[in-house]
Amino acid sequence: MLQTPHQPPQAAVVPSQRVTARDQDGPWHSEAVCRRDEAGLFFAPSKEPTAARLSREEAAKRVCARCPVLVACREHALLQPEPYGVWGGLTAAERRVVLARRRRRDAELQKTARPAISHIAAAG
Ligand code: SF4
Repeated sequence: MLQTPHQPPQAAVVPSQRVTARDQDGPWHSEAVCRRDEAGLFFAPSKEPTAARLSREEAAKRVCARCPVLVACREHALLQPEPYGVWGGLTAAERRVVLARRRRRDAELQKTARPAISHIAAAG
């Protein structure tokens, strides 16, 4: 079984089971920079002050910026979705924004596709 790229510290508020079927699909974990160092940057310890959180998250993002599997990691975190920690250079709050944008975009695409499909059906 593959390990998650960055292991949450014991004190972090994260689900205990983080390895999923999707994690086992690809080899991207083996190339994760956060497997080698600075794993404690990626998850909040309990009762972390805001300034410390912002500083830690920025440090985690700097690690992600030099990671060769950033895109795969980010998509994993968006598709799961991962509710905690920095994944693929995005915090949990930033991932929620991306997911909300995707939902809006998908809804718009469905709205624009429906008239075209009914037009084709009527002509056929
Ligand atoms: S993008 Fe960041 S969180 Fe994801 S594997 Fe790389 S270093 Fe870890």
